[in-house]
Amino acid sequence: MTETSVDALVIGSGPGALSIATALSKEGLIVEVLTKDEPNEPWPYTYGIWGDEVDDVGLAHLLEHRWQNTVSFFGQGSKEPKSIANEPTKHLRDYGLFDKQRLQQYWLKECEKSRVKWHRGTALELIVEGKTSLVKTADGRSLKCRVVIDASGYKPIFLKHSEKVPIAVQTCYGVVGKFDTPPVEKDQFVLMDYRSDHLTESEREEPPSFLYAMDMGKGSYFLEETSLGLEPPLSLDTLRLRLEKRLTHRGIKITDLKYEELGVYLPMNIPLPDFNQPLLGFGGAAGMVHPASGYMIGGLIRRAPILASALKKSMRNTTATSAQIASDGWRALWPAELRRKQALYHFGLEKLMRFEEQQLRDFFTGFFALPSRQWYDFLTNTISVKDLVGAMWQMFVKAPWNVRWGLMAMQGRELQLLWKFLKPQTFNDNQLKHGNE
Ligand SMILES: Cc1cc2nc3c(=O)[nH]c(=O)nc-3n(C[C@H](O)[C@H](O)[C@H](O)COP(=O)(O)OP(=O)(O)OC[C@H]3O[C@@H](n4cnc5c(N)ncnc54)[C@H](O)[C@@H]3O)c2cc1C
Repeated sequence: MTETSVDALVIGSGPGALSIATALSKEGLIVEVLTKDEPNEPWPYTYGIWGDEVDDVGLAHLLEHRWQNTVSFFGQGSKEPKSIANEPTKHLRDYGLFDKQRLQQYWLKECEKSRVKWHRGTALELIVEGKTSLVKTADGRSLKCRVVIDASGYKPIFLKHSEKVPIAVQTCYGVVGKFDTPPVEKDQFVLMDYRSDHLTESEREEPPSFLYAMDMGKGSYFLEETSLGLEPPLSLDTLRLRLEKRLTHRGIKITDLKYEELGVYLPMNIPLPDFNQPLLGFGGAAGMVHPASGYMIGGLIRRAPILASALKKSMRNTTATSAQIASDGWRALWPAELRRKQALYHFGLEKLMRFEEQQLRDFFTGFFALPSRQWYDFLTNTISVKDLVGAMWQMFVKAPWNVRWGLMAMQGRELQLLWKFLKPQTFNDNQLKHGNE
């Protein structure tokens, strides 16, 4: 059976799919969503975000927690609590955790208001012919639309990336529970605790990891031992052991384990999509995760209306093919400025992946000594290319020599990534005729 043609068919029901379906339907486009899960299936992760990001878009009411006391630790660490090695770096910016059910409901209600239609099923095949894109599902249905938006996550069903690269993966082992001694201060959020005095000399030579931790209220804490991004990734067992050692060293015991996070996979350096394919992507599928932080929700909220508005404009041309609409969409989603920044962020990640623990600690000390607006804009990808280059240069000149040497020594794909910054991946000539670079 072939169903009626609509403007856009979004695949998935994660944050990527819901944010773009909402934005498209707000533009008055006819939107359908095809998803394997129930639309209100609980999402598996917790989503953190800087307070200013939600304030700027009027969504602060969707937070379940908000912390003002936000710190990191970049010292070596010591058993002596007052030692300078335990000195926190204060971020002086709020950080929040979404109430993920409320966030999901917010988007679902927006979709409902605009009569977005849901199809439950697994996308299997895509056929694009002229003005029509047709998606076949595992149970034999065919759904027609003007353009498909693949938001099926980090291993997208249809979307192809521009190149194959070794994927750097962030891995974490986390627990939520009660402890006999508070593992972080009351009402505190710890972005990165790089103290490592709980490890032996030889353990400190292994790839570093840090603690991401927060007071969840009512005596509960969320602790997550995290590796920034590595290829091959740090194993779950290593992270679990390190968290246990960290706690034991400080004489802290877990008294009530409410939840254990058994390892997650967060690819940090997904290449840009192939812009010449006749479909679009959004979210993890479209390489939108921030390579420096692994965050994406803020970016989804900011970028969905831009893509939706470009698609509405493109679709006013009733003769536009799916490929032309997709091409206009890619240009709006990945303008040259963002492509350039992505290359620099990937370059930075490659550097950090090679850094030893001391280099990482010195690097982050310098990073958070940048003017607050600069590091915030860097971490949220709201920085201009000019300011990004400026921030990197400032970091370089102020850095100690161990970090400078690390930044100067070019290895692996680093030169290639710098070249991509100068000459970002572009669109093919046919498509350039249709849109504006
Ligand atoms: C552990 C972890 C922690 C994270 N923490 C944060 C954070 O604190 N802050 C932040 O901003 N970001 C965070 N992220 C990054 C990012 O926000 C999330 O990964 C987010 O879930 C990605 O959304 P998505 O919609 O692109 O993909 P997903 O959430 O993976 O959703 C994909 C959807 O596609 C559906 N699907 C897949 N295949 C098909 C198919 N063939 N047919 C139909 N449907 C299909 C799936 O069922 C699912 O609904 C984190 C990621 C991870 C892994």
